[in-house]
Order: sequence, then C-alpha cells, then structure tokens
Amino acid sequence: MSAIDHLIHDNDHYVSSFPGARPVRPKLRLTVVTCMDSRLDLFGALGLDIGDAHLLRNAGGVITDDVLRSLAISQRAIGTREIVLIHHTDCGMFNFNDDEFRATLASETGEAPPWRVPGFTDLVEDVRLSLTRVRECPWLPYRDSVRGFVFDVATARITEVTTSDATSDANSQTAGH
Ligand code: ZN
Repeated sequence: MSAIDHLIHDNDHYVSSFPGARPVRPKLRLTVVTCMDSRLDLFGALGLDIGDAHLLRNAGGVITDDVLRSLAISQRAIGTREIVLIHHTDCGMFNFNDDEFRATLASETGEAPPWRVPGFTDLVEDVRLSLTRVRECPWLPYRDSVRGFVFDVATARITEVTTSDATSDANSQTAGH
C-alpha cells in the first residue's frame, strides 16, 4: 500500500464520524502561517478545531508573495482579523542555501526557477522579519493583531517572539536543536 492508499482507507473511517460542514468563515477569525514540517500538529498544539482558522503552510513558513495573496483573501473575502506566525526549531530551512539550490536546479534542468527559497540563520530574527513583512503589507486591512512564535518540536511549546531587542526566551530554547 502506498501512503496515498492509506489516506483513502482512513478517509472512509473519518467520513463515518464526520459531524458535518462548518461555516466558510473561520470561527476564530484567525489565520495561522507556518512551516510545512510534519511535526507541527496545529490542531493539537493550538487547540484548534475544524472551521476555526485558515492555515497557510510552506517550506519555512516564509511570508512569500503567495502567502500575502492568501492573507489578503483571508481577511478581505472571508473575514479573518488576526494573524499568527509560527516558525520552529530544527527547521529544514535553517542554513538553507538558496543560491546553491537554485544553481543546482538550473544546472540539472537548464532552467532556473523564478522563485526564491530563502533560508535563515537566526530563528527569532526570521520570525521578526516575517512579522514586519505582514505588518507592512498595505493590502491587509487588519494588521493590529499579528503575533509571532517559535514552536519547539521537542516539547511542542510555543514561545512568543517580541519585536524588541530584549533577549528572547525563544532563541535560548533553540540552543541544541
Ligand atoms: Zn520548518
């Protein structure tokens, strides 16, 4: 059985206990932007339920143009008001070399991709950078309630990243990961 066959099989069980459709507008009027990492169980770790929040995920939880596009839709068309950004320890994008990756793709295929794949070297600073990108996006009508966190994959605890330069708990918790 392939992994996809497993999904199809499990869906049969899920359907039998499914409570039914929820409204399209997320109940918490919240959007979460985070990494695609398989160890981030957003429903479990944040107490979310079906229909509670929009979840946007990509490699690193990077605030790309596409994420901003989805945030604009989320707020303007579907009524969300708050945004949470979550990066995490032991991320595959830590120290990721964008130039090298793109050069490899270009040499193997003869064509460089039009997108960048930004990595990072400082987890907390990367959260701050992401917060700034969202807060400065002119197309988002609701930017007062945007908060950033680091998720520790070893403990599942989230630690808030403040925008001040004060030493953050989040950075000290990344030591050793
Ligand atoms: Zn990650």
